[in-house]
Amino acid sequence: MSAYLFQEYIERISSLIRSEARLTGVEYDLQPIQLSALYYLSRANRYSNTPQGVSDYFGLTKGTVSQTLKALEKKGLIQKSPDSKDGRVVHLKVTGSGRKLLKQSLPSPMVSGFWEGLKKSEQTQVTEILRQQLLQMQMANGMKSFGLCRTCRFNSKKGEGKFFCELTKENLSMNDTELICREHEQPKV
Ligand code: SF4
Repeated sequence: MSAYLFQEYIERISSLIRSEARLTGVEYDLQPIQLSALYYLSRANRYSNTPQGVSDYFGLTKGTVSQTLKALEKKGLIQKSPDSKDGRVVHLKVTGSGRKLLKQSLPSPMVSGFWEGLKKSEQTQVTEILRQQLLQMQMANGMKSFGLCRTCRFNSKKGEGKFFCELTKENLSMNDTELICREHEQPKV
C-alpha cells in the first residue's frame, strides 16, 4: 500500500466521521466543534480543562473558543469554577447533563460498529498504530501531545493507587492518571 492510499483512507474516514458528527450535533442542537470541545473537557485533567487548554488542543483562536464555551455553558453542559490557587484561572467542568449527552452521542454508531467488529488484538493493534502515528506527527509539528497522564514521564507511582506529578509537585489519583494533560511529555528513551 502506498502512502497516497494511506492518506486517502485517513481523509475519507475523517470526512465520514465529521459528517456523522454534524448530524449528531443537529440532533442535540450543537455545532460539531461544541460537541468536540465538550468531549475534550470530559477527558481533560485539572491542568487542561481551561479555555487555554481547549485553544491549544484544537488550535483555535481565543474568540472561537470563547464563543464555543459560552454556547456550552448556556446549554448547561459545562460549568465554570475558579482555580483554588490562582484566581485568574477558570476550570470548565462538564455537568451531569453534559456527561449524559456525551454518553448518548459518542462514540458515533459508525465508529462503534467498526470497533465492535474487531477482535481484541486488532483493537489493540489499530489503536497503537494510530497513537504512534499521531505522536510522530505532533512531534514533527512541535505540537503538544495531550497524552494520557499515566504514560507521562513526570508521573511517578507512590504506592497502591497513589501517584505523584513530578512537574507540578501534586498528588494524582488513579482517576487523574486516566485523563489527558496539556503538560504531558513522552518518557525519554
Ligand atoms: S504527570 Fe504529566 S500528564 Fe500527569 S499531570 Fe503531571 S504533567 Fe500532566
